[in-house]
Amino acid sequence: MWWTEPCAAVMPNKNLNSDELKHANELLKDIRERLTNLAAGDPLLLFAYRRKLVKELGYDERGKPTTRALLKALKWGQQNGRCVHCGDELPLKYSELDRKNAVDGYTAENTELVHAQCHHARQAAKRYT
Ligand SMILES: [Zn+2]
Repeated sequence: MWWTEPCAAVMPNKNLNSDELKHANELLKDIRERLTNLAAGDPLLLFAYRRKLVKELGYDERGKPTTRALLKALKWGQQNGRCVHCGDELPLKYSELDRKNAVDGYTAENTELVHAQCHHARQAAKRYT
């Protein structure tokens, strides 16, 4: 059956080496200092700046929610409303996009639509292989 076809090779996510981790932590420290300076002691402004950065950096990795919603609808149609993982009917409302290679983002070629619980099972399996 179509949903039992083997997946393409999945690349593991890159882990930072010790130098890269040091650079990332330095960058994070700089950003935190800049946020603190920009907020000038206003905790609500610090919160708002922090939320803005988190939101925008999340979009850099995951795309905007409207784009993902359109992709989910497209995949749902392509998969005839069924979960690629278990083959059962898949209510669009409870579906999640699973990226084959996280770094390749949310594209039609790089994603499969699955139940939330099937997504969690896949993620757990990836961690133990
Ligand atoms: Zn499923």
